[in-house]
Amino acid sequence: MLNSEITAKLRAIVGGTRFRDDKEALVAHSYDGTPMLQSLPDGVIYPASTEEVSAIMKVLHEYKIPLVSRGSGSNLCGGTVPAHGGVVMVMHRMNRILEVDLENLTATVQPGLITAELIAHIEGLGLFYPPDPSSMKISTIGGNIAECSGGLRGLKYGTTKDYVIGLEAVLANGSIIRTGGKLMKDVAGYDLTKLLVGSEGTLAIITEATLKLIPPPRAKKTMLAMYRDLYGAARTVSRIIEARIIPATLEFMDNPTIRVVDDFAKLGLPLDMEAILLIEQDGDPETVERDIELIREICAMESADRIDVAESREEAEKLLTARRSAFTALARLRPTTILEDATVPRSRIADMVLRINEIAKKYNVTIATFGHAGDGNLHPTATTDARDAEEIHRVELAFAEIFEASIELGGTITGEHGVGIVKAPYLEWKVGAPGMEVMRGIKAAFDPHNLLNPGKIFAKETKKRVVLQHG
Ligand SMILES: Cc1cc2nc3c(=O)[nH]c(=O)nc-3n(C[C@H](O)[C@H](O)[C@H](O)COP(=O)(O)OP(=O)(O)OC[C@H]3O[C@@H](n4cnc5c(N)ncnc54)[C@H](O)[C@@H]3O)c2cc1C
Repeated sequence: MLNSEITAKLRAIVGGTRFRDDKEALVAHSYDGTPMLQSLPDGVIYPASTEEVSAIMKVLHEYKIPLVSRGSGSNLCGGTVPAHGGVVMVMHRMNRILEVDLENLTATVQPGLITAELIAHIEGLGLFYPPDPSSMKISTIGGNIAECSGGLRGLKYGTTKDYVIGLEAVLANGSIIRTGGKLMKDVAGYDLTKLLVGSEGTLAIITEATLKLIPPPRAKKTMLAMYRDLYGAARTVSRIIEARIIPATLEFMDNPTIRVVDDFAKLGLPLDMEAILLIEQDGDPETVERDIELIREICAMESADRIDVAESREEAEKLLTARRSAFTALARLRPTTILEDATVPRSRIADMVLRINEIAKKYNVTIATFGHAGDGNLHPTATTDARDAEEIHRVELAFAEIFEASIELGGTITGEHGVGIVKAPYLEWKVGAPGMEVMRGIKAAFDPHNLLNPGKIFAKETKKRVVLQHG
């Protein structure tokens, strides 16, 4: 696809060392955090400025070469696998915090900035940027925006989309657009900022983002509620919300997850519990005290076996870090770990957990479940082995049925990980044929030659829906 004329033009833009087409670079950028997906690009390029991105896009547009933008490749939907070859554009060199505006409470950053570095910097200034995906020590802000990532604080504070108020982006033909700004109100035309959030690198390349910051909460308290009855834990989630309490964090781990997390983080968790809820409330000290007390009563009413409130901030951080390590800890069990993020209205969490367990049993596969229960966002995670085709087939059937179940319960096929390649065949189940038509139209308006991350979001074929039978 790339000939010497094109590579010479690309090298002229970024210099000799920031374009690579050696085997090592191609293989290193042929896969991402998603298991069992790999496809070689034809080249890898590392721009250092918006002008370079624009110049690169002009060349690729001229020769109709596909482009895959890449942060850290930690996505779990095949989002950065170059399914159609072409050039992978790695954003890590564009990693600066350009400005923190203390009058407007905004931060303007480049897309390659690591999420945890932004959060630490902002906290150092006595401010708060809430979106905190568990991958925040490796993920980039550009990746977070393109996937509309969530995190442990999503329930009370929302997800990435709630904090992106302005963008600079480069279109497929190389022209540069600016959307939104340091504005809390802006209804000038269609909201292109929100459209680009979650667009998975298929509409434009984000080169700068203006993010909303908020004052930090004054107090925080963290507790663990442990249950022998799995569904008691799931019901607690609905009861807390019903009681009009919105905790900052409301996370769920089932028994297999508790076991691996404890083995990984050495917390001394009780291994005989069927489920644990990790709950954090923040805000004014009095509100926090009152909410934690009410939550404790609700947990007890739903027959929690043990309720522990963290004694110190260090202890609380240890618990949050342990929850963040759930995926990594599960990945130690077997060679292949497939994590999904079926999401339901939070009132249906108990039903969804029940259905996941029934489906795992039906297909005789091992599925551990943890997730952001307060958001209704569960991560059923299959521990399996890609070398066993028969088992992988059963895992695929189980996940198709899990997607179907979540839609049936009023939910969606993905709450925060994106569609990418993996969920493209299921997207029509959620948005319907007319919804797909509108999305295709939007894609064509931004990228008429299908050069930006082709093969993502739109599948060649929609999977047939399975007919669910359950008691
Ligand atoms: C251990 C682990 C835990 C995780 N926990 C969470 C979690 O709690 N919540 C959550 O939501 N996700 C989570 N994820 C998924 C993943 O980390 C997020 O999707 C993250 O936002 C991806 O960031 P990245 O920099 O790695 O992006 P990449 O994986 O490199 O890219 C993701 C997508 O963004 C596009 N993209 C990247 N940069 C740009 C840009 N500048 N302009 C346009 N498009 C761009 C890519 O083309 C791709 O489609 C987890 C993943 C792992 C491995």
